Amino acid sequence: MLALIHYDEIALKGGNRKFFEQKLAENVKKSLCQKGIVFDSVKRVYGRVLVNFPDDREKETIRAVLKNIFGIAHFSFAQECAKDIEKIKEKSFDVLSRQEFTTFKVETKRGDKNFALTSQQVNEQVGEHILMWLENERSLAPFNKGAKLLSASKVKLDNPDITLYIEIAEKDVFLYTEKIAGPGGLPSGVSGKAICLISGGIDSPVAAWYLMKRGVAAVFVHFYSTQQGYEQSLEKVRDLVRALNAFGLNSKIYFVSFSDIQKEIVLSTQADLRVVLYRRFMFAVASEIAQKEGAKALITGENVGQVASQTLDNMLVISQATSLPILRPLAGFDKIEIIDKAKKIGTYEISIQPHLDCCSMFVPKHPQTKADLKEVRKQEKKLKVKKLIASAIKNAKIETI
Ligand code: ATP
Ligand code: MG
Repeated sequence: MLALIHYDEIALKGGNRKFFEQKLAENVKKSLCQKGIVFDSVKRVYGRVLVNFPDDREKETIRAVLKNIFGIAHFSFAQECAKDIEKIKEKSFDVLSRQEFTTFKVETKRGDKNFALTSQQVNEQVGEHILMWLENERSLAPFNKGAKLLSASKVKLDNPDITLYIEIAEKDVFLYTEKIAGPGGLPSGVSGKAICLISGGIDSPVAAWYLMKRGVAAVFVHFYSTQQGYEQSLEKVRDLVRALNAFGLNSKIYFVSFSDIQKEIVLSTQADLRVVLYRRFMFAVASEIAQKEGAKALITGENVGQVASQTLDNMLVISQATSLPILRPLAGFDKIEIIDKAKKIGTYEISIQPHLDCCSMFVPKHPQTKADLKEVRKQEKKLKVKKLIASAIKNAKIETI
């Protein structure tokens, strides 16, 4: 069995086609391996990625895996034949006789413009051949299953029951009847690495997904405080990352204890600025991890106006704790849109499980919504910022999922 993978040509503007294709092929291989699916080869052919499987026993699992691989615009389970019109006719009937339909059309795409017939000529010849075959089958073997199903068959160009796609490539011809949508986007890793601050809530996994879709490989950082039952919350974060791995590859998570930082903040600083101070520490720690990892940006699930820490004033002050760009793909979404997406990508049910959120600890009823950078810096002077950051990173637990 063959899977013929198409990617979006638009993504290739700028001459990085080869890199893009290589990465996509590599990601397809890795994703199939991760699921324990056996394949014979993964090849790049004339602007497609072609995967050869020994048989079609794992077809449904393969379909589920390919549907989630970023960079895939659509894919098909295809049959292959030689570049010869007679062979194409034979194979066409072979493909169609296994399907149920009454109306059909043939849609040819001629990648190789040197092929003797035009696309339209191939459509006509194959279409005619199929109709003839069907007539024959019907008169010769009235009880033959294929003939019975196809007895009323006719060509219908507008909205037919089935379309036979024929792609004439450089060396071979591919035939298929189903185009299965992939998630689009860019292959994981082509855009480099970023650190995603993942909280265990609904938003941050969705934020990670949007940037993974643009080819960013995410390294996750989660801050926790060692309160009773916190281990369960860490497991929840692992579950979220496992769910996201369906769209990427293995992921690394840094689990960073926030307890010491939090203790110092609570002991020494002004209560209404705690959330802002927590967040600035998170960004500072994440930036150091980014440097270790060679990551070029931070990703958060922040969303303008959602909570006290996410007013534009506070975001301005928080942002200045790092010199890295902060990617906030959800900044302008409504909560309901985020929830919708979370459901679609399979993170919502995990996110709504109970969670011990370190940021909601020791937070006053009325946190500052218009933090002032000067004031915040004055508060931070009371803390051993560098030492706290260094020790948080030194004690981080790194896991690969
Ligand atoms: P989420 O649903 O992602 O928790 P939220 O609406 O609860 O988002 P906040 O709690 O204010 O928003 O957090 C904003 C962002 O800060 C999160 O989306 C996440 O990127 C980051 N963040 C918050 N808490 C943590 C944490 N404990 N560890 C890592 N990142 C965090
Ligand atoms: Mg949160």
